[in-house]
Amino acid sequence: MSDIKVHPVNPEFAAKAHIDNAKYQTMYDQSINDPDAFWGEHGKRLDWFTPFTKVKNTSFDLHNVDIRWFEDGTLNASYNCLDRHLEERGDQTAIIWEGDDPSESEHISYRDLHGRVCRLANALRGQGVKKGDVVTLYMPMIPEAAVAMLACARIGAVHSVVFGGFSPEALANRIDGAESTVVITSDFSLRGGKVVPLKANVDKALTDPAAAKLVKTVVVVQRTGDKLAWDDSRDVWYHDITAAASAECEAEPVLAEDPLFILYTSGSTGKPKGLKHTTGGYLVYAAMTHEYVFDYKPGDIYWCTADVGWVTGHSYIVYGPLANGATTLMFEGVPNYPDSSRFGRVIEKHKVNQFYTAPTAIRALMQQGEDVLGNADLSSLRLLGSVGEPINPEAWEWYNRVVGKDSCPIVDTWWQTETGGIMITPLPGAINTKPGSATRPFFGVLPALVDNEGKELEGAADGNLVIKDSWPGQSRSIWGDHERFSQTYFSTFKGFYTTGDGARRDADGYYWITGRVDDVINVSGHRMGTAEVESALVAHPAVAEAAVVGYPHNLKGQGIYVYVTLQSGFDASDELLKELRTWVRSEIGPIASPDLIQFAPGMPKTRSGKIMRRILRKIAEDDYGALGDTSTLADPTVVDDLIENRLNRK
Ligand code: ATP
Ligand code: MG
Repeated sequence: MSDIKVHPVNPEFAAKAHIDNAKYQTMYDQSINDPDAFWGEHGKRLDWFTPFTKVKNTSFDLHNVDIRWFEDGTLNASYNCLDRHLEERGDQTAIIWEGDDPSESEHISYRDLHGRVCRLANALRGQGVKKGDVVTLYMPMIPEAAVAMLACARIGAVHSVVFGGFSPEALANRIDGAESTVVITSDFSLRGGKVVPLKANVDKALTDPAAAKLVKTVVVVQRTGDKLAWDDSRDVWYHDITAAASAECEAEPVLAEDPLFILYTSGSTGKPKGLKHTTGGYLVYAAMTHEYVFDYKPGDIYWCTADVGWVTGHSYIVYGPLANGATTLMFEGVPNYPDSSRFGRVIEKHKVNQFYTAPTAIRALMQQGEDVLGNADLSSLRLLGSVGEPINPEAWEWYNRVVGKDSCPIVDTWWQTETGGIMITPLPGAINTKPGSATRPFFGVLPALVDNEGKELEGAADGNLVIKDSWPGQSRSIWGDHERFSQTYFSTFKGFYTTGDGARRDADGYYWITGRVDDVINVSGHRMGTAEVESALVAHPAVAEAAVVGYPHNLKGQGIYVYVTLQSGFDASDELLKELRTWVRSEIGPIASPDLIQFAPGMPKTRSGKIMRRILRKIAEDDYGALGDTSTLADPTVVDDLIENRLNRK
């Protein structure tokens, strides 16, 4: 867009930062020119039982997709997140837990966490769990979720975390897909004061014959203590089995390429994919990105608001921070309970230094106005982060002003479940930021733009975002379906990893994610990403959220169909419709002028808060009978309203 404001790196911040601009350039060049030397050095940030002698051994060849890092080394992720910190920081807080109810919180030291993990690890062994077995976690945001992940890792078992908001059907599918024999859950979960019967959902999932046949044990954490159904032949209480277990448990050495976890994508673009992540490369990458992207220093209090059910929770609540010996905050609740000042209150209460959240949360706060965080003292904040969707420049500026008080760098981090860790992001002491741009690649990441024929584009350009070579955090496969993995990510553009996202690179070499490739609109021969048009709309004072899709149009090929959620206090009117059209024309140009604008009280979103444009596209095409996989949709009633008020009726 026309008026891009550059926010230069604060020199004081840069002086104290891990990475300044000069260092970024040098290290980036090294990482690309000699990945073996670079990662061989940085692989040493972990403690290895058997040091690796090989570093990179990777192939993106469609017929032989094979990705290995540090393959002859052995290590244990739980050891790296716990044991190695005990001597120096055993009494330091590892996890600050903030409950749904603001009066509940807890500090768990590294020593305490180590003990809890060892007990559960022994207890799981007692239940027959062995190295390589898959354990499904279906849990609220309570410390036991992190304990369970680390306990699995400790004995070489593979965890598969299923977001606690998913239905019994979705859970059953994921249990089947992973051939999981043990489920860890809690009796109930508490979110925004509401009680959700997690254990009852597991019971329902296990009425699925395939899942029922697999699962031998359900371990239940007592969260609320309310009454629940119980099956003695299958169910055990977490507190019973851990109380009886020893607090000493040797960490099992595993190979770097042994699986650490399976995790499903959000399902924004179709059926979720169960990705396999392995141990060594993943942990090196998660830890290194956590330290450098958030400029984490010993003593900092770091808060990522994601759920552990998503990759952001895996890499940046649990593995990255704990591998670095950090203090990580885990929040059970929701941003608007007891009221929408909650994020501010938590930052104030725990003196949070780094705050990492999603555009959907930022836009929800914006909708409430500038004083949404009350008079909370936010002066502890040093850095802000964003992840999950493109952040509209308007939301970026709001975040900067209202939360960061114009004094915190913002890291807009682009990455995917598949990438394991952050790929494109400003490093806060090194890279000047431009609102809406994820800016520059992290070390070892070689992004490129290609046209639809796969020809690489040079200089300032707009195209399909691909990654040209492997990085350690990369997913190795889709669980149980390597062919689908190869086809999905390596068949479209030969020799490259296909991200499925579109991007623009500007004259400074900055990347701007324009949205999903599938969502690109072609109006009279002009290709347009959804992000740009949406950002123009969100910049209008009446608009809280906007989603843009294409639909068949006789003259233009595709027309622009816009869904708009209004800011509280604004009403839908013909006048506003006209105004929004004029607004987009002046912000971007006549080519982007919306053909149809539907006012929508809410958007269809994934459970992780992303707009599902494929559903909006179907409705815009008047083809709402076949919405595809909607199992990860957060609120199905939103869709009914959208269908009822659709504008393009045939
Ligand atoms: P599925 O793959 O099932 O459709 P998904 O892609 O939403 O689901 P995730 O892996 O959680 O599942 O999300 C990754 C995607 O999120 C990226 O491909 C990108 O489209 C979007 N994304 C994440 N962070 C950013 C960001 N900072 N800027 C722009 N887009 C982002
Ligand atoms: Mg995806």
